[in-house]
Amino acid sequence: MATIFSKIINKEIPSDMVYQDDQVTAFRDIQPQAPVHILIVPNKEIPTVNDIKEEDKLLIGHMVLVAQKIAAEQGVAENGYRLLINCNKDGGQEVFHLHMHLFGGRPLGPMLMRQK
Ligand code: AMP
Repeated sequence: MATIFSKIINKEIPSDMVYQDDQVTAFRDIQPQAPVHILIVPNKEIPTVNDIKEEDKLLIGHMVLVAQKIAAEQGVAENGYRLLINCNKDGGQEVFHLHMHLFGGRPLGPMLMRQK
């Protein structure tokens, strides 16, 4: 199912794109939650982590390497950053086109809110 991310990948709607090749596209999140907040998205329409197939192994590895390169370009590699993929309802996924968040540029705190 095509989402708004396919339109961004195909440049049918504008985005603040920072990287694109034949496999992935990366652009700034429209509602940034950190000074650096970039989404790394496979050009192929994969809805969720649950839909990743064996044949996508190289693509997923490529997404991580692209994230690494962007983190260096954005100047957050040394201090550190967070890569995050949400999956389905409990994971907080809103857009059903697989994407990896890259957050950086400030201390990001604990990974999850602690339960009392
Ligand atoms: P998730 O909750 O993991 O599905 O994250 C979806 C993310 O996509 C959110 O952080 C949104 O702010 C972001 N988003 C939604 N629409 C756009 C858009 N048109 N351009 C950039 N980011 C977007």
